Amino acid sequence: MKKISIAIDGHSSTGKSTLARQLAKSLGYVYIDSGAMYRAVALYAMENGLIGETLDEAGLVGHLQALELGFKLNPETGRSEIQLNGENVEKQIRTIEVSRYVSEVAAIPEVREKLVRLQQAMGAEKGVVMDGRDIGTVVLPGAELKLFMTAAPETRAARRYKELLDRGESVTFEEVLRNVRHRDHLDSTRATSPLTRADDAIRLDNSDMGLKEQYERVRSLADRILNAKK
Ligand code: C5P
Repeated sequence: MKKISIAIDGHSSTGKSTLARQLAKSLGYVYIDSGAMYRAVALYAMENGLIGETLDEAGLVGHLQALELGFKLNPETGRSEIQLNGENVEKQIRTIEVSRYVSEVAAIPEVREKLVRLQQAMGAEKGVVMDGRDIGTVVLPGAELKLFMTAAPETRAARRYKELLDRGESVTFEEVLRNVRHRDHLDSTRATSPLTRADDAIRLDNSDMGLKEQYERVRSLADRILNAKK
């Protein structure tokens, strides 16, 4: 059976990783969360005094070579989780604090260069589902199935707000909505690989779509490609 690559891009909090995980699991593919890599770099910057009043871009670029990123299966969760210099930082990268800085960090061309190279190496073999902002356009332009996910900002903020509350973070809905809009703006307007839909990506607005319906739709798209490829 031939394998394909699946690229899932789109706005923040549109459920890209949930869908990517479902697809990877059902197809027996590897899931790669490219956003976790940008988040880990932002966490590194925070922990190393490179974010004060402003982000010390030159300082961060100077540290990049020494920064090791990868994924490792956590037997406790059954998920492959992000490792920063050998330490599992999956939990630390999901805070609103990291969300606040990550898009600025992700706009630095040298950061993108390094991460894109790593992501391309991870996606070199078919049988991968990768989600992010530039996967279909830059990282895996040859992916056989490309999706561009979006939903109304309020819908996305409500989902994210619930997630953060469930995790015990103290945030307000307004703060989360502001963060969602802010990241949309930064991600779409940055000079290097801005968030755009690849010409051949299928647009998926899931404002009013349940998880099951969404999964079934996308899975049938994947099956169609796989059957044609056999
Ligand atoms: O996917 P997630 O929301 O965790 O990504 C966090 C941030 O990382 C995004 O808001 C974006 O700024 C950046 N990112 C990116 N390119 C990717 C994945 C994430 O610029 N491929």
